Amino acid sequence: MGKVTGLVCLKCGKRFAGGEHITCPDCGLEGIFDVEYDYDELRHSLKESPLQSRHVNNIFRYQDFLPLSEPAPGMLKVGMTPLYRFEKMTDLTGVDEVYLKDDTVNPSSSLKDRASAVGIAMAVEDGRRAIACASTGNAASSLAVLSASVGVDSYIFVPESAPEPKLYQIGACATKVFRVKGTYEDAFDVATEAIEKWGWYNRNCAINPYLVEGKKTCSLEIYEQLGYCVPDWLVVPVGDGCILSGQYKAFKDLKAAGVTDRIPRILGVQAEGCSPVVECFHGKGEPYCAEPNTLADSIRVGKPRNWRKALKALNESEGAAVTVSDDEIVSAIELLGRHTGVFAEPAGSTAFAGLIRAAGEGIIEKDERVVFLVTGSGLKDPESLKSRDLITDVGRDIREVERALESA
Ligand SMILES: *Cc1c(COP(=O)(O)O)cnc(C)c1O
Ligand SMILES: [Zn+2]
Repeated sequence: MGKVTGLVCLKCGKRFAGGEHITCPDCGLEGIFDVEYDYDELRHSLKESPLQSRHVNNIFRYQDFLPLSEPAPGMLKVGMTPLYRFEKMTDLTGVDEVYLKDDTVNPSSSLKDRASAVGIAMAVEDGRRAIACASTGNAASSLAVLSASVGVDSYIFVPESAPEPKLYQIGACATKVFRVKGTYEDAFDVATEAIEKWGWYNRNCAINPYLVEGKKTCSLEIYEQLGYCVPDWLVVPVGDGCILSGQYKAFKDLKAAGVTDRIPRILGVQAEGCSPVVECFHGKGEPYCAEPNTLADSIRVGKPRNWRKALKALNESEGAAVTVSDDEIVSAIELLGRHTGVFAEPAGSTAFAGLIRAAGEGIIEKDERVVFLVTGSGLKDPESLKSRDLITDVGRDIREVERALESA
């Protein structure tokens, strides 16, 4: 655990040495840790090897900000995904300077690969040959894909509602996939029990503090790709809250290491039918949604495990939180597709939908510099577009094509 100097429980505030526990021994699953580094040492290593001078082209470019220095041998390339600026975004959002961070191009086509790459490297370093997780889909695909690349067994638990393309992506790469009758929460509980019983390495992101560290690399890249600048706003989708927490942690670590002097405001976006974190941010008690209802399966999380960390990130960054309807989410998929060519799954377009809404409501202003994340590929859940009239059926008669073109 070389560079990690301590783990701080977000619930009770106690500090522990790195490597001993996954969650706080006093608080159990509620006691999620924040990972701390030796920031003086970090300043020193950044002086020796400034970010600008580095040549590694994956997330381990940021090894001094991570709990370990190298990927597991054979690991597919994770991270260093593109940041794009499309002129069209200004028309669509009303904001002058908008950037899209495209995390659909990771090996398993979602941002989850950043967390899995760290989790698997730690498991391998620890001599573990089997790793497990519960997931709404993408963490599982990611774990299965990256474990396969390094020759580690993977045991995956998904809820009944996982979209089929994700199931098959997992099935093609995992040692074993279990489809649990019930929700993500049920799958999570079964996985937790199995992990304890068979002693597998636990990749359940929400409670394993090191995985948020992996997700953090997305914003370390953004900082570099913006020419070593901090944006005014960072817009992220929220399920368990790990992506959001990770992006905040990136800027917090950069600041603690003396690289930057500010943190972007973070806008968390959830679906109307499942918005426990947004409601909690607006002061409505502990986050819980009894009947999550959205087509964005990756953020269909009724009981977010990492809400404390997410709330802290929203508050400390002076951020904001909004909800968007499923219809806005699907429209955002179409807008992104039509105007950028980036194809997003519903949770993947949610941040963009949230940006449009927040700009419309004046939360984000016209002259602010905004980055939004596209967290997962549309190929993972193409059926989400079924309700849209995107396909024109024609016979073999060219006049049908002509008529269709004329009526368009
Ligand atoms: C997991 C996931 C999210 C939500 O991330 P959390 O860390 O659970 O908040 C958003 N989008 C996609 C595509 C995901 O796979
Ligand atoms: Zn505690």
